Amino acid sequence: MSIRFQSSRGDPQLLGFSQAIVQGLAPDGGLYLPSDWPRWQPRELAGQGLPEVAEQILKPLLAGDPLAEELPSIAAEAFDFPAPLVPVFADASGGSLQVLELFHGPTAAFKDFGARFLAACIARLPGEGARAERPLHILVATSGDTGGAVAAAFHRRAGCAVSVLFPRGLVSPTQERQLTCWDGNVQSFAVEGTFDDCQRLVKMAFLDPQLARVHRLSSANSINLGRLLPQAVYYATASLTHWRMSGRLLNFIIPSGNLGNAVACFWARRWGLPIGEIRLAHNANLTVPQFLAGEPWAPRPSVATLASAMDVGNPSNMERLQALFPDVTALRSEVKAIAIDDESIRRRIRDDYRSWGRIWCPHTAVAAEAWARLSAAERADLDWCIVATASPAKFAEIVEPLIEERVVLPASLQALFDRPVRVSSLEANLDALRGALQ
Ligand SMILES: *Cc1c(COP(=O)(O)O)cnc(C)c1O
Repeated sequence: MSIRFQSSRGDPQLLGFSQAIVQGLAPDGGLYLPSDWPRWQPRELAGQGLPEVAEQILKPLLAGDPLAEELPSIAAEAFDFPAPLVPVFADASGGSLQVLELFHGPTAAFKDFGARFLAACIARLPGEGARAERPLHILVATSGDTGGAVAAAFHRRAGCAVSVLFPRGLVSPTQERQLTCWDGNVQSFAVEGTFDDCQRLVKMAFLDPQLARVHRLSSANSINLGRLLPQAVYYATASLTHWRMSGRLLNFIIPSGNLGNAVACFWARRWGLPIGEIRLAHNANLTVPQFLAGEPWAPRPSVATLASAMDVGNPSNMERLQALFPDVTALRSEVKAIAIDDESIRRRIRDDYRSWGRIWCPHTAVAAEAWARLSAAERADLDWCIVATASPAKFAEIVEPLIEERVVLPASLQALFDRPVRVSSLEANLDALRGALQ
């Protein structure tokens, strides 16, 4: 079987994995999808840790690609920190709750997995990395987690430069520190404007002929396949671990915004991994929950919530979810979403610390609340896993007053925070950006 990648909007061109990650977005504006699905039986998969599972399940997707031979070294490099599955609660009558901790990477959020895998791929592409004639210049607009993860993943890599644009004063103090602690090939810009201004500037930069003469610009956007595929690996590994121990399927509740993390889980299930239900847990941005409940598809501006990395009003990965379930009735019966407001996030953080001693970040709390709102029968019959997308330490300003305790900073974040701050301010216009990138 030879798998290629194809646009979600019907452009018939088939690309290999390397071409798809360099392209990012398909020429017709669609997102890349695999042309075929690998099919595994759980017992065929022998790998234990993340790198071994990655090698095995991603192999058919890279077959025939220039990066195929490099997959073992890419997997070893990208998956060099754990994604532990930690028990929270087990009901004597059957059901259980675990948490999949995805925040043990350098910037303490799940986006480290995708950013590091993409960076490891790009470094090994022919004509890139140490062999690049001109550096590949990655421009990222960020409202928080993405910029830090991309900066960390590409920092000090030969043949790459990164510019991170964030809105001055509009990211949390903790997030700002991890956006501004870089040197060498990573520059940070505090833009006099909003996140939308940052995004607009990046889009204008990609279309600007003057910048194109000087820089090879690229994006490390979350819709890039090189960020999505590695996310399937931790769902595969967690579900296999659970299945080997219990013979049962693992059911996931995923804090969702742009739906990249959730689509990776649906892909892993389609490939045959022992995954049961997949529930989407959204904040007060209601585009997806309302659509899945039967209303028309109505993208809208995002609203600000405590779970800010999920403040998305027009989730681009919806196209990939729809491609999995082309019939809208099937989509609505297969995929369930729940919306959680800020007050419930606060209460859940407070209550679960008291009941279980567990400290959630606001995004993880959305999933924990969604679990608490399952029917008693669903909780009693199934083995659930909530996905912890970030460390609570990244959101200490929100979490500490609720639990009335200090949150311990993970060593990886402390190491970043010990670095000197380096940031330039930038007016929100293209001239200013051109000047800054000289
Ligand atoms: C990005 C992010 C999310 C949302 O993930 P999507 O793939 O966009 O759905 C959730 N939690 C945290 C902490 C994030 O950084």
